[in-house]
Amino acid sequence: MALSHSLGFPRIGRDRELKKALEAHWRGELDEAGLRAVGQRLRAEHWQLQKDAGIDLLPVGDFAWYDQVLGHSLAFGVIPERFRSAGGKPTLETLFAMARGAVANKSSGNCCSGAHAQELTKWFDTNYHYLVPEFGVDQQFALSWEQLFEEVEEARALGHQVKPVLIGPLTYLWLGKAKGADFDRLELLERLLPVYGEILQRLAGQGVEWVQIDEPILVLDLPQDWKNAFERAYNLIQREPCKKLIATYFGGLEDNLGLAANLPVDGLHIDLVRAPEQYPTILDRLPAYKVLSLGVVNGRNVWRCDMDKALAVLRHAHERLGERLWVAPSCSLLHSPVDLAREDQLDAELKSWLAFAVQKCQEVAVLGRALEAPDDAAVQAALEASRTVQAARAASTRIHKPEVQARLAAILPRHAQRQSPFAERIGKQRERLQLPVLPTTSIGSFPQTSAIRLARQAFKQGKLGAADYLEAMHGEIHEAIRTQERLGLDVLVHGEAERNDMVEYFAEQLDGYAFTRFGWVQSYGSRCVKPAVIVGDLSRPQAMSVEWIRYAQSLTDKVVKGMLTGPVTMLMWSFPREDVAREVQARQLALAIRDEVMDLEAAGIKIIQIDEAAFREGLPLRRAAWQHYLDWATEAFRLTASGVRDETQIHTHMCYSEFNDVIEAIAAMDADVITIETSRSDMELLEAFERFDYPNEIGPGVYDIHSPRVPDSAEMANLLRKAARRIPLERLWVNPDCGLKTRAWPETEAALVNMVAAARQLRAELA
Ligand code: GLN
Ligand code: ZN
Repeated sequence: MALSHSLGFPRIGRDRELKKALEAHWRGELDEAGLRAVGQRLRAEHWQLQKDAGIDLLPVGDFAWYDQVLGHSLAFGVIPERFRSAGGKPTLETLFAMARGAVANKSSGNCCSGAHAQELTKWFDTNYHYLVPEFGVDQQFALSWEQLFEEVEEARALGHQVKPVLIGPLTYLWLGKAKGADFDRLELLERLLPVYGEILQRLAGQGVEWVQIDEPILVLDLPQDWKNAFERAYNLIQREPCKKLIATYFGGLEDNLGLAANLPVDGLHIDLVRAPEQYPTILDRLPAYKVLSLGVVNGRNVWRCDMDKALAVLRHAHERLGERLWVAPSCSLLHSPVDLAREDQLDAELKSWLAFAVQKCQEVAVLGRALEAPDDAAVQAALEASRTVQAARAASTRIHKPEVQARLAAILPRHAQRQSPFAERIGKQRERLQLPVLPTTSIGSFPQTSAIRLARQAFKQGKLGAADYLEAMHGEIHEAIRTQERLGLDVLVHGEAERNDMVEYFAEQLDGYAFTRFGWVQSYGSRCVKPAVIVGDLSRPQAMSVEWIRYAQSLTDKVVKGMLTGPVTMLMWSFPREDVAREVQARQLALAIRDEVMDLEAAGIKIIQIDEAAFREGLPLRRAAWQHYLDWATEAFRLTASGVRDETQIHTHMCYSEFNDVIEAIAAMDADVITIETSRSDMELLEAFERFDYPNEIGPGVYDIHSPRVPDSAEMANLLRKAARRIPLERLWVNPDCGLKTRAWPETEAALVNMVAAARQLRAELA
């Protein structure tokens, strides 16, 4: 039979039980035994959910207390010196210290006093973040953490047939960083492999037959020495016990296809959702002894699978491979919400279109069964239901809006082009804005105090009337404006008190979006996000932000800048549609937000900021696909921004500093001003400007808002002097790295006072 399996299941729980337990533990309200009990209960529940859904081979090792990469670092003994305690073996306390940092001289325990956390970064192109392993030159590896074996035991005690999941040695090394000295982390491979051997032997001893070894880096552009290392590594690993399935996902193998197919292991998993073109090519390359696992159910989105489409591929593969065919989701279900059955407030139609992790397991199982028993009544019913859903969606007027499509079709190149080039319009803007050199501003949000959050919550729940809510928010805006005037900032903001989240706030006001109640996905550690769902063609029924900004502007003679979220960021932080291309959705968002830009301009707002925090993270994994992405993403931004007159100044904001490889695209966005993160990297970003002369104005962040530390004005002035060496003074702005909503007021005021002082000092010095 065609075996159905899952590559990994979400660990947070249907009600985010893991999040709640972790946070209670960190607050000291739940002891370690209590926390472990929650973990055990969740694992048991998740295996049962998958088994009940019809999955034959269940994953184990997909559970993690904070992050699976961190779990591997513990398992391999990759524990930086600052987290080592006298006692030897790491503990849960060590794990959390590596993840979150440790308070200095904490009285309980003896681990890690004052150690800063490991770096957190994006897991491939997902919104999941992992903890970056830190390798020293003389890094040793030793099996140091028993969790995997304990969990295998746990699952077997429950009577489950399991397949442990490991991150492969090459992917693990690739994801880490060499610290201290400059060396090639690939040199560590030979030292690392014996630990894999030990793990495989232990698992075999526990009666494990199959092990899944994740090597997603096989979908990246790999340097030749890394490709070679794959053969070396797996030639050694093949001698160890257990059958091995190499799992690849998030893209196509492309030039690594032959390499992956021929590794001396027992099976290969490929992602046919992201890279359907890999089939049937793979059949010609796969040795006749190998299992092929086809990922046909999207593990990264919330839509039901089109069963007929998936079955067409699977039937063909089944004829060729027989029992050697396995059926799976495209990747671990870590990236999809847990259980659609929890959604009690979705309308029946929309609900019938969706599938979360539990439902995706059911889909995988049905597809597997359909190959063996096509006439089975349950299979027939599931296929019929899938057809009904596909047909309903294809014809739905809720999704397909002729007016939106007509607007899209009418877009002309000039709509994505400002009236005059920057050099011309900047003069008009300066004339109108009358700002000093080195104008000071902020990125948009001010501290989200508990008063603000409570008012918003009460309003949402209907406990606070609209008039009272308006009054409360006006009060906040009033405070924010007065404070900024007192601090002496040049361009003011309204503070974004009314916004829960920069994407959700706008998504809620657009037609074409839907929201779930329980569609949570882990972002990192105990943090979860609940992305909005793009269901259909997008449009803006009415103005979304204008009244707040207009009110703010009415309170002051200084310029207030309007704040919007850009189309690329809206798209990247939502669950997108699967029935139209991403760039089409971006263009629809662009037109909707463009309307808002125009309304702000009409309301007399002279500066409008369109945030594109997620612009860079949309970059495809393969370099060859970058240009296409950059083209449509840039066009979407320009379409949003370009309806305004020359005199209206467009700002954008991005919260990172790795610009070197995309600086041309950033310039092509043609924002009049861009504010960016730079303080954490000590203005490293400015290197990009040596190679490329960024033509427009720029505000490199002069202090890090991610930390409560308040740098003094001399420190900020220093950063500004550095910036002034690369960027002409008349094109420099002065601002923090990012929005201030996670900070408290006292440190915010103190930092802004110093920032304004630094700008004044520089003006005096350089004038
Ligand atoms: N304007 C937003 C804010 O200040 C930008 C947030 C972001 O870049 N992530 O909060
Ligand atoms: Zn930011």
